[in-house]
Amino acid sequence: MMSNPIRVLVWNEGRHEKKNPKVQAMYPNGLHDAIAKPLREAGFSVKTATIDDPEHGLTEAALAETDVLTWWGHIAHKEVSDEIVERVQKRVLDGMGLVVLHSGHHSKIFRKLMGTTCDLKWREADERERIWVVAPHHPIAEGLGEYFEIPREEMYGEFFDIPQPDELVLVSWFQGGEIFRSGCCYQRGRGKIFYFRPGHETYPTYYQREVLQVIVNGVNWAAPGNSPKLIFGNHKPLEVIMPHEG
Ligand code: ZN
Repeated sequence: MMSNPIRVLVWNEGRHEKKNPKVQAMYPNGLHDAIAKPLREAGFSVKTATIDDPEHGLTEAALAETDVLTWWGHIAHKEVSDEIVERVQKRVLDGMGLVVLHSGHHSKIFRKLMGTTCDLKWREADERERIWVVAPHHPIAEGLGEYFEIPREEMYGEFFDIPQPDELVLVSWFQGGEIFRSGCCYQRGRGKIFYFRPGHETYPTYYQREVLQVIVNGVNWAAPGNSPKLIFGNHKPLEVIMPHEG
C-alpha cells in the first residue's frame, strides 16, 4: 500500500435501500458499501457516509480529511442542507476531488458547481447500454477496451444540460437509440470533478468490473495534486514601479 493513500469519502443518500426491497436485495449493505469495496481494494483509505448521519456525514472535520468525495443521491436531493452544500463546494474549489455518480446529476452540489439545470431525458426499460471510450489517452480510460456494455440499465439521453465538459471521456449509446455524455471532466477552482453516468439502484451495475474500474480511475484522476494555491484580491507589485518622469 502507498505510504499516503488517497482518502476517499463515499457518500450515499441511502434512502432507496430503506424503502425498496428490490434495492435491498441488490445492495444489502447499501450502494455505498458496493462502491467502497473496489476503492479499498485499489489501496485507497475509504470511509462512507449517508444523508441520515449527523450533518449528512459531511462535517468540516470529515471534509478536511477527504481528498476525493464520491456522491450518489436520487430521491432526497432537496433534503441536503444548503449550508452543507456550500461547505462541500468550498472544499472542491480548494482542491478536493468530486466524483458524481448517476442520479447525482441532479444533486444540489453538482448543479451548483455546473451552474445549469443538469436536466436530461430518462427511461426505465431494461435496455442495453454501450459505453464508448472517446478519449483513449485519458487516465480515466485506463484498463478499458474500445467500449464496454452494461446488459440492463436505465436510459439517460441528450440533451444533457451541462456546461461543455473540459474533457469528455465516455459516451453512451442505448438500445432505444439515444446517446449521452457519460464521462465528463471539469475543473472548478483547484478541484477536479468527474461525472459518471451508470448506476441505477435496481441493477447490479456497481458489481461490474469495467464500471468499478472507471470509478477507481476517476478517484485517482480527481485526487488533489500539488497545484499552486490560488491568490486573489489586491496585490502588491513584485518589483518597484518607477514613477513616470515629465
Ligand atoms: Zn436511476
